[in-house]
Amino acid sequence: MSSVDTIAAIATPPGRGGVGIVRVSGPDTQRIAHAIVDSPPAVHRVSYRDFRSAEGEVIDSGIVLLFRAPQSFTGEDVLELHGHGGRVVLAMVLARVLELGARAARAGEFSLRAFMNDKIDLAQAEALADLIDSQTEAQARSAQRSLQGVFSERVGKLVTTLAELRKWIEAAIDFSDEDVEILSSPQIRQQIDTLTTELGETLHQATAGVLLKEGVTLVIAGRPNVGKSSLLNRLTGEETAIVTETPGTTRDLLREHISLDGLPVRVIDTAGLRETDDEVERQGIERAWKEVRQADVVMLVIDDQVGFTPDDAGIHATLADNHRKIVVRNKIDLSGTEVSVVSSELGTEVSCAALTGAGLEVLRDQLKAAVGFGPAPDPVYLARQRHVDALKRAAEHVDKATRGMDHAAGLELVAEDLRLAQNSLAEITGEFTDEDEEIWVT
Ligand code: GDP
Repeated sequence: MSSVDTIAAIATPPGRGGVGIVRVSGPDTQRIAHAIVDSPPAVHRVSYRDFRSAEGEVIDSGIVLLFRAPQSFTGEDVLELHGHGGRVVLAMVLARVLELGARAARAGEFSLRAFMNDKIDLAQAEALADLIDSQTEAQARSAQRSLQGVFSERVGKLVTTLAELRKWIEAAIDFSDEDVEILSSPQIRQQIDTLTTELGETLHQATAGVLLKEGVTLVIAGRPNVGKSSLLNRLTGEETAIVTETPGTTRDLLREHISLDGLPVRVIDTAGLRETDDEVERQGIERAWKEVRQADVVMLVIDDQVGFTPDDAGIHATLADNHRKIVVRNKIDLSGTEVSVVSSELGTEVSCAALTGAGLEVLRDQLKAAVGFGPAPDPVYLARQRHVDALKRAAEHVDKATRGMDHAAGLELVAEDLRLAQNSLAEITGEFTDEDEEIWVT
C-alpha cells in the first residue's frame, strides 16, 4: 500500500549532538530532496550537500541519503538529512522540509508505514520500540532477536502447521463417511502432537520474554545487619542500578533496581518502611506496603549463626501468604553450614554467604525460578502480554481440537477450533488470515 502524504520528523533525540537527522518518507520525498539540496543526491549512495532555505541560504550541510521504494525502512521513498545535532538547526531543517509539503509525523508513524508496507510485522514493530527502550543488555539482545524476526518465524511455523492440518481436515469434510478414519490417522495425530509441544515451548519462551520486558518486584526483608545490602550488591552483578528514578518521594527512595542475569528486578527494602509521623512519608510508605503485597517474590534474610529468632518470625508473619518466599540463611561462613537449598514450612531456604559469595549462584537460580524465569530455553525473545494471551488462546483451541478428535467429534468442529487457533496466532504478527475476517490489532 502507498501513503497519500509525505511525513517528516527529527529522528535523533532532543539535545546537543554531533549529528542530527531529519527523516522524510512518502511520495513527495524525491521532490523535497531535490528542492532542499543544490544538486540531486544519488540514490542509495552517500552524498554531501548543503541544505538550503527557500531563499537559497545554507541552513546546514551534511550527508544526504535517498532511498527509493521499496528498498527503505518504511518501504516508501525515504530521505535522510544528516546535519548537525543542535535543537535550533534541526528545527530549521525540519521547517524547510515541511514548507516543501511534508507533514509532521506522529509518534510511531514511520514504523506504522513499515508495517503497512510489509517491511516488518506487528511483533517486529513492537520489538523495535522495545529495543529502543531496553534497559539491560539481555533486554536489548532479546528485542533484537524479535526484531530480526526470530519470534515471528516461530509463530509463522506454527501457523503453517495449523494451515496444513486444516487443509487435510477441510478436504476430508466433503467425504463425511471418513471422519473417524481421517481423525485417527497417525499422521494427523503426530502433527497435532508436535504442534501442541511447539506451542507449549513458544508460550514458555514468550512468558519468559514478558518477564524480561516487564521485570519483577523483589521484596527484601530482615533484621538490621543480617546482610541485606551485602546480598543485594552481590546479586546485582555487573550491571548496577539500571534505572535511576528521580528521588524525592519516600516511595522512590525505597526502591532499587538491579539486574539478575538481565532480568530487571525492582527491589523494595522493607527495612525502610518504618513508622513515621510525617504525613507525606506515611503515604509513601503505605503505597510501598501495597507494592510489597503485590511483589513477585520475597526474600527474608536471617543470620544463620544466630538462627531463626522471634524477631525473624515476626517479620515473616508480616509478609503476605500469597508470596513466593525465599528464606536466606546468610553468613554461613560464620556458622560453618554448607551451601544448600531446602523446602520448609517457611518457604524455600537457601544457605549462603554474601561475604564470600558462597551459594550466591544457587540463590540467583532460586530467585529466577520463583518468578518463572528460567532456566530459560535459549533464545528468548522480548515478548508482550498480548503475545502470551494469544498463544494461550491458540493452545486452548488446539487442545479443544485434540479432545474433539479423541471423542470423534465432527470434522467441522475440529476444523473450526484449528481455524480459531490460527487466527489467535495471526494476531501476534498482525497478519490477515481469512478472506472474510480481518485481524487488526493496534
Ligand atoms: P543489612 O543491615 O541487613 O543491610 O546488613 P549489611 O549488608 O549492611 O551487613 C551487615 C554486616 O554483616 C556487614 O559488616 C557485612 O560485611 C556483614 N556481612 C554481610 N554478609 C555477611 C556474610 O555472609 N558473612 C559475614 N561474615 N559477614 C557478612
